[in-house]
Amino acid sequence: MIRRLGAFCCASILSAAIAVGQPAEPLRPEWCRQLPRPEYGKLERVLSDEPWFEIYRIRPGVFAIYEPKQFEEVISYLILGEKRAVLFDTGLGVGRISTTVARLTSLPVTVINSHTHFDHVGGNAEFQEIWNRDLPYTQQNMRGQPNVYSRDALAPERLCGPLPPGTKPESYSIRRWKSTHALQDGERVDLGGRELEVIYSPGHTPDSLALLDHKNGLLFTGDTFYPGPIYLFTPETDFAAYAQSVARLAALAPQIQLLLPAHNVPLAEPSYLRRLADAVQQVQSGKAKGQLVEGHQEYTFEGFSLLLAVKPPSSK
Ligand SMILES: [Zn+2]
Repeated sequence: MIRRLGAFCCASILSAAIAVGQPAEPLRPEWCRQLPRPEYGKLERVLSDEPWFEIYRIRPGVFAIYEPKQFEEVISYLILGEKRAVLFDTGLGVGRISTTVARLTSLPVTVINSHTHFDHVGGNAEFQEIWNRDLPYTQQNMRGQPNVYSRDALAPERLCGPLPPGTKPESYSIRRWKSTHALQDGERVDLGGRELEVIYSPGHTPDSLALLDHKNGLLFTGDTFYPGPIYLFTPETDFAAYAQSVARLAALAPQIQLLLPAHNVPLAEPSYLRRLADAVQQVQSGKAKGQLVEGHQEYTFEGFSLLLAVKPPSSK
């Protein structure tokens, strides 16, 4: 889940538009008006005829599959070796990501999920090989998400463009899927000429993990880091575990050239890891001052913020 707060517009914008007589322009939510993000202007776009996804070549053999028409702005990554490919997350399940992936590679594809929030597993059911941690939390999410939950993701204020033909918010749901291999911390996945190391990074969810491509200095961070408000307020978040995971990733920073986050933009400087670790420490020690935003406590730092649950008043 994500990612940009203060985004919800709509009543005030709508009334303003009517007041100045602009009914002809379709209403676009505030976050959508800010797209495209400038970072994308410098990237190499491929398969620009895809209707739902935008696809960018970030490095040789590394594609970002971005969903800019939905508020989450989720990003999945296709990582190619010489013999196999890994798809790190499968997005919202709105566009058919397996068809898009088949246009990018003919290699056999294994899905690895950064974690199993609905916006990262939406296309899992389209694939045979799906690797995850084996936790009760993960198993629960394998059952899919009923429409009553997922349809909110496609509410008008969360969309920034047309849905693919045939996709309807009333029937959108996350299909059931099955993990075919339990990943271990430190496990190395050999793609042929490229190796990915699995790094457990619990916190945002119990089953969060990052992928490290040592040779190329790439760290795929999932939702443990992205430039934006990082969601750390849901019941499945464990902030103490998150702090440990962030410290572990920050220690890797000297080996890393590029972070590839799962929302908003597909590249960030590795220096963010150290700054994120500092930020988490400041929150833990009580040094950072938060503010109440939309029912959550937001701690703002340069380039990102941490969005925590508001603690209930302690009873004496
Ligand atoms: Zn998430």
